[in-house]
Amino acid sequence: LNHQAPGVSKPRYVRVNTLKLDVDSALLELAKINTVKKDDMIQDLLPCWCSHQGVICTVTNGSIFLQGKASSMVALALGPKPGWEVLDACSAPGNKTVHLAALMRGEGKVLACELHKQRVELLKDTVRRSGASNVEVLNRDFLSISAEDPMFSKVRAILLDPSCSGSGTAAERLDHLLPSNAAVTGFTDTIRIDNLAAFQSKALAHALSFPAVERLVYSTCSVYQTENEDVVKSVLPLATSLNFQLETPFPQWSRRGLPVFEGSEHLLRTDPVEDMEGFFIALFVKKGVENGVEQ
Ligand code: SAM
Repeated sequence: LNHQAPGVSKPRYVRVNTLKLDVDSALLELAKINTVKKDDMIQDLLPCWCSHQGVICTVTNGSIFLQGKASSMVALALGPKPGWEVLDACSAPGNKTVHLAALMRGEGKVLACELHKQRVELLKDTVRRSGASNVEVLNRDFLSISAEDPMFSKVRAILLDPSCSGSGTAAERLDHLLPSNAAVTGFTDTIRIDNLAAFQSKALAHALSFPAVERLVYSTCSVYQTENEDVVKSVLPLATSLNFQLETPFPQWSRRGLPVFEGSEHLLRTDPVEDMEGFFIALFVKKGVENGVEQ
């Protein structure tokens, strides 16, 4: 809970679902019981210092989503245009799916792929609450989708936010502080993270192979180099051969990738303590294509 004034403590973040409510109306509504302002970087995001026993808003009709700043940067980094076809490759519970739909003003199509049946239900619920009518939910394994399948031939942007260690999120960081588990956790974590990284590299290489894709975002809520810079580095030869290059999402953001390869300064990191969540974002853009227009 957070009862203090801006500048004194960390806010909670409210992402306004612009499919249902405009940002100024949300600001007015939230200001009734909170100290709230507009975020300086993300238009539809409101940092909020709740003053009412931790309750930001009693409205749960999908007009707002409680979503951290780092997490809200991901769909924005992808920058889909209204009317595009976009694939959210690993999408449940769907926070970024519905953010994509809102950025596209409900025009075009978001194909939201999710492997696990139970999580598909969560995803469908998020989509239903958001009011997005341009999301098609697919209960499929992203790795088994053929990049040549005509159903995906018009996909111009892919958001790949695959399963990761979650080491950048609060709950996981607290787990790491449990001393009794330290030795076991250290050992199993190495194997688990290597396995996750193998899946992430495979999924990223697969995403790069879709023929019409111009923009691709790879993101994790992990702080580990193995799941972040190393995964990006592993696909660089393929990305280059397909004419993709790394671009710099949010150039004004100072925290960039670890300096482990040339070009890692394009990557974006957020700090789990200072920025409240440890996220990682890499943006690949096809050369010669700017704002969806072939140069
Ligand atoms: N982007 C989501 C959001 O912001 O709400 C969070 C995605 S979560 C980090 C990763 C998701 O990928 C999980 O729901 C997991 O079940 C799903 N997943 C894992 N492997 C997959 C695969 N091979 N194909 C499709 N989805 C997969």
